[in-house]
Amino acid sequence: MTTHPLNLTLAQSFSKNRIVLLLCASFFLGACDQGARPTQPSSSQGSPVKTVDLILTNGKVLTVDNKFSIHSTVIVDAGLIVETGTAALLENYQSDNTINLDGKTLMPGFIDSHTHIRGRPQRYIELSEVTSIAEIQDLIRAKVKEIGEGEWITGYGWSEDELNEGRRPLKSDLDLAAPLNPVTFTRAGGHSAVVNTLALQLAQISLETEQPEGGIIERGEDGELNGIIRERQEIVGKLVPDSTYEEIISSLEINLNALLKKGITSITDASKKPDEYLMFEELYDNPELPLPRAAIQFQWSDPAAINNLKDRVGGGTDMLKIGPIKVFADGGFTGPAAYTLEPYVDQGEYRGYLNMPESELVALLNEIHDAGWQMGIHAIGDAAIVLVVNTLADTLERNPRVDHRHYLNHFSMRPPELTMELMAEHAIHITQQPNFTYTLEGRYVENLDGWRLQHNNPIRSPMDHGITVAISSDILPIGPLVGLYAAVTRKGMTGAVYGPDEAITMTEAIRGYTLLGAYLNFEEDSKGSLEPGKFADMIVLSDDLLTIDPEQIMDVSIEQTFVHGKLVYTNE
Ligand SMILES: [Zn+2]
Repeated sequence: MTTHPLNLTLAQSFSKNRIVLLLCASFFLGACDQGARPTQPSSSQGSPVKTVDLILTNGKVLTVDNKFSIHSTVIVDAGLIVETGTAALLENYQSDNTINLDGKTLMPGFIDSHTHIRGRPQRYIELSEVTSIAEIQDLIRAKVKEIGEGEWITGYGWSEDELNEGRRPLKSDLDLAAPLNPVTFTRAGGHSAVVNTLALQLAQISLETEQPEGGIIERGEDGELNGIIRERQEIVGKLVPDSTYEEIISSLEINLNALLKKGITSITDASKKPDEYLMFEELYDNPELPLPRAAIQFQWSDPAAINNLKDRVGGGTDMLKIGPIKVFADGGFTGPAAYTLEPYVDQGEYRGYLNMPESELVALLNEIHDAGWQMGIHAIGDAAIVLVVNTLADTLERNPRVDHRHYLNHFSMRPPELTMELMAEHAIHITQQPNFTYTLEGRYVENLDGWRLQHNNPIRSPMDHGITVAISSDILPIGPLVGLYAAVTRKGMTGAVYGPDEAITMTEAIRGYTLLGAYLNFEEDSKGSLEPGKFADMIVLSDDLLTIDPEQIMDVSIEQTFVHGKLVYTNE
């Protein structure tokens, strides 16, 4: 018999039922319907009681169906939802694994429709959640202990906007923690890095070194190198030894598994090479590993390899499949490199740039569409969004395809109304990151102003135009609760509110992070809501997202995560 941490009162066996019957004085008054059904129940229609794998009851079950129905009981069998409804369902079903939700909220697992999950070498330090330079130094010291003196240490994801010191980490900060290990840490966004003295020495970079083309080796106010290298950090990074397949795959497994803790039961990984699919395949070949479902997006750099892979894996499996093709139209707001209609604040006529010449981008979008693939297109600046939408509209008029589901991977600036009308007309969708409004607040305030600052990462306006807007994280950070918080409050990290007219309701945000994410992968019939026949991918939350004070949303914890009806994470 399976025992379960949440199974506090429900009877799971004959003897337990008897005890509950004895303890529940109000049973005969009908008030004890959860715990004390008869040991040989029969349904009201007289049909036999069906035994199923899992029953969850006495909860607030957000089904995320069309009507956003809220039920109390979910019946699961063979990994699928059989039925949801009231506790009356307990008359028709029984299970050795019955969970009393104790009033807690159960909902479909989050579907993060735009993220990046990687395996990392052992020398790597994740810096995207650090909040101080002191913390970075502690992480370095721990890593030196782990891998030994002399080894390269790498990392990614720091941002001065999130550090208590309010400045960038510099060479001198890294030297204090790692005098004997070369260190290179790439900033969030990937456009610069900070390296330490030993790394500069090994790369033979000194004050005499010429500035690399397209990049800058920075000097501090004292005229000395401060360790920051902009745009061309590979002049140091190329010295880092290759990592082994074994260390990368075991780290990938850990990083995928960690998503279950965040309540994420499906992801679309937004930029891999076809050969990286093999590593995912190796993990997903083992059905015992607790992992979220994954769809992998490839860039179109090697169409033959993508097509070969597609020939081999076809539609993939329920757990792992090939997603849409990824195209990069422009950059982001670190740099900044997003391609905008109007110049950035205080940067002359600078408007960012496209990732490739316009004619090449137009040809690429047409080529991928004509090859029959769906596309997820990175477009951040309003000029990039306008160009991509105009191009797709032309492409779709020239070569119409019903239900293409092309979408924009971002929508960081609100484009002109006409662009949103075109998107609605041609069913061009969005996966939006409301969490950017929160985490990238500093970037937006520095580079944008007025109306375009207020309407960063809009959701309400595209939705009102009839555009499908799914919600995702792009790992900034990965936790869906940050996205839900920012989607309903429109608040940045400082607490300032940006464009409250772009806020959506929690119900809409939940739908965006579940069912609409499934829709972008043509999976709305199997995922994203708790309806009969769909995968039992579900999470139990510590609090009720529909009634909680919005300021507390980010404190909600994920108590349990189920994938295919199987408990894959519990916080106990
Ligand atoms: Zn991304």
